[in-house]
Amino acid sequence: MAHTQSVKRTQSATDASESPAKANGSRADATESAADASPEPVLSLSGVTKEFGPETAVDGVSLDVKPGELLTFLGPSGCGKTTTLRTIAGLEEPTEGRIALGGETVAGDGAFVPPEQRDVGIVFQNFALFPHLTVRENIAFGLEDGADADADRVDEMLDLVDLPEHGEKTPDQLSGGQKQRVALARSLAPEPDVLLLDEPFSNLDVRLRVEMREEVRQILKAAGVTAVSVTHDQEEALSISDRVAVMNDGQIEQVGRPESVFERPESKFVASFLGRASFLEGHLRDGKVETGIGRFDAVTLEGYDTVYDGAPVDVLVRPDDLRATPASAELADGTIVSRQYVGPSFIYRVELGSGEVVHCLHNHVEEFDLDEAVSLELTADHPLAWYPR
Ligand code: ATP
Repeated sequence: MAHTQSVKRTQSATDASESPAKANGSRADATESAADASPEPVLSLSGVTKEFGPETAVDGVSLDVKPGELLTFLGPSGCGKTTTLRTIAGLEEPTEGRIALGGETVAGDGAFVPPEQRDVGIVFQNFALFPHLTVRENIAFGLEDGADADADRVDEMLDLVDLPEHGEKTPDQLSGGQKQRVALARSLAPEPDVLLLDEPFSNLDVRLRVEMREEVRQILKAAGVTAVSVTHDQEEALSISDRVAVMNDGQIEQVGRPESVFERPESKFVASFLGRASFLEGHLRDGKVETGIGRFDAVTLEGYDTVYDGAPVDVLVRPDDLRATPASAELADGTIVSRQYVGPSFIYRVELGSGEVVHCLHNHVEEFDLDEAVSLELTADHPLAWYPR
C-alpha cells in the first residue's frame, strides 16, 4: 500500500491473576482517573470487536485518546494490535462496537466512513515513500490547498523534521532515519486529527531505533498531533508514549502511563511482558510474606491488607530488586545457573531450592561462577506487585 491515507475526519479487567493493588484502588488508579477528567477525546473506541471467521482478533476494546496524546498499543505477536489500528484507519470494519473520530461516529451504529474520508494519517512500517518523487513532492502528495499554500506547508514540515536542506533529494539519497522523518512529514502535512504509526521503528537498525524514538516523540509533540502507534517492543512503547495500552488475546489488559504499567502491573500477563519479570512464590502469614529467599514484612507488597493473610501469592521481582552474595551450601538460597552480559552489567539466573528461577542484576565487576551457591537479598526500594496464586 502507498503513502499517507488522507483519510477525513476503559479497559478490561483480568481474572485470578489480577493484582490486589488494583482491587484496593492503588495510586495508579487515582492518577489515571484524574487524567480521565480532561478534554473531549479525539478518538474513542467502545466495545470494538473484529472477527475473522471463527477467530476474534479484537475483543471488546474500549479506549479514549485525548488531544495531543501519544498512545501505544503494546503486546505480543497476534494479540490484535494491528487489527485495532486498521479499524481506526477504516481499513477494517469492526464486527461490533463503535469508533468515533473528532466526535463523529466513523464505524458502528450503522455507519462506516471509508478510509479516504477519515481525517487520519498513517505512517507505514516501510515508510512507503514514492521512490521517483523528491522529498518535497513526497511531502506535498496529500496536499490540495493550491501551489503556494502547499509549498509553504512543505517548508514548514521540512523545518519540523529538520530536513530543510534535503527537499530536492529522492528517497534513495536519504538515510533510514531521514526516510522516517520524511514519512512523518508527509503524514503530518494534511493536519490529520489522528496519526497512526504501525511498528514505526521496525525498519531501522537497533542503534538508530533508539535514537529515532526520542526524535519521533519530539516531532509529534512539536506538531501537537494526537497519535496512536503499535509495537511489540516494550522499551519502545515505554519510552515514546504518554500512555501504553497492553493487549493480550484481543483485549486491553491494562492502560496507563508507562511508569504505572511498569511499576504496578495489574495482571501477571502485564508483569511478565514488561521487564525481565520473575515471580517468587509466597505465603502471607501474620503480616509477613514467606518466600524461597526469606521472610519479609508484607508492607513491602503494593496494596497489602491483612484480609489477604493465609493466601498463597506470587510476588513480582525484577533483576534490580534482588542482590546475590556468595554463601555456603547450608546458608544458600540457590545456585547460579546462567549469566548474560548486558553492557556494563550481568543478569544472573538463580535457581532456588524450590526449583523457582529468579534473575538478579549485578555490576560487571561483581562476578559469580556458574553453579556458585548464593544467598539472595530483596533490595527493592519500591512496593512490589503481587498476585493471588
Ligand atoms: P503482529 O505483531 O504479529 O503484527 P498483531 O498483534 O498486530 O500481531 P494482528 O495482526 O492484529 O496481531 O492479528 C490478530 C489475529 O487476527 C491474529 O491471530 C491474525 O492471524 C488474525 N488476523 C489478522 N488479520 C487477519 C485477516 N485479514 N484474516 C484472518 N485473520 C486475520
